[in-house]
Amino acid sequence: MRPISWKLQSYRNVLIPVPSAGPGVCTTCWREVERWPQCFQCNKHCDQARSLADVVTPIALAVKGGQFARELSLYKNGDNRAQATLFNGFATILEYFLRQHETCLASAAQAERFEVVAAVPSTRGRLSHPLHRMLSSNIGRTRARFVPALAPVPGFADRVFTPDRFQVCADVADRNVLLVDDTWTTGSHAQSACAALKDAGAARVGVLVLGRHFEPSTGTARDYLARARSQLFDWDRCCLGQSGRGRCA
Ligand SMILES: [Zn+2]
Ligand SMILES: [Zn+2]
Repeated sequence: MRPISWKLQSYRNVLIPVPSAGPGVCTTCWREVERWPQCFQCNKHCDQARSLADVVTPIALAVKGGQFARELSLYKNGDNRAQATLFNGFATILEYFLRQHETCLASAAQAERFEVVAAVPSTRGRLSHPLHRMLSSNIGRTRARFVPALAPVPGFADRVFTPDRFQVCADVADRNVLLVDDTWTTGSHAQSACAALKDAGAARVGVLVLGRHFEPSTGTARDYLARARSQLFDWDRCCLGQSGRGRCA
């Protein structure tokens, strides 16, 4: 493992690794499944649209009530001081993860490289989403590629999948897009954004999320979480590399 900063080192105690692909893991969003390759939500999205994300990669699990889930909520909704600390922490996480694993995402999405980086915009009327700021100015590797490619269209209910909830306001035709979001809960927002980008002509779309929201409400989910927690977070591995679907540094 390459030397990493104290901040990244300390996050190893906060981040829970996403389990490898295989039986019991949704082939799209990496949550636990009982018998089917995909979870209920991902299967529903596939029934509703043909053009979805080519790959979804969560950096870590954000377990309900856990520290990472609390931080993901605070960074958007907390007071200014808390937001600034978490903002810097998340920028560091994203920058380092991309340095180590962007090639894994591109490979799994069958893209040579991502020419465009975009963020899933907030649908709650926030004018300047912190993720936009992070990707357009704080993170060196995304700064020149970031395009505010999506704008929310008001009037859609939360957690409903529809490409119409986003307007594409950039030329993405034949371009590979890395779409970043902070949290994946049902995936409806991110997949709506992917479908909108694909309808606008985007070639391949890879989704990167900081946290995959996880609520261990069933025995299967608790087993899955126990398996995930049994390994310490490793900055040199991502779920794609573990699964053989991509490659790791
Ligand atoms: Zn799923
Ligand atoms: Zn990787």
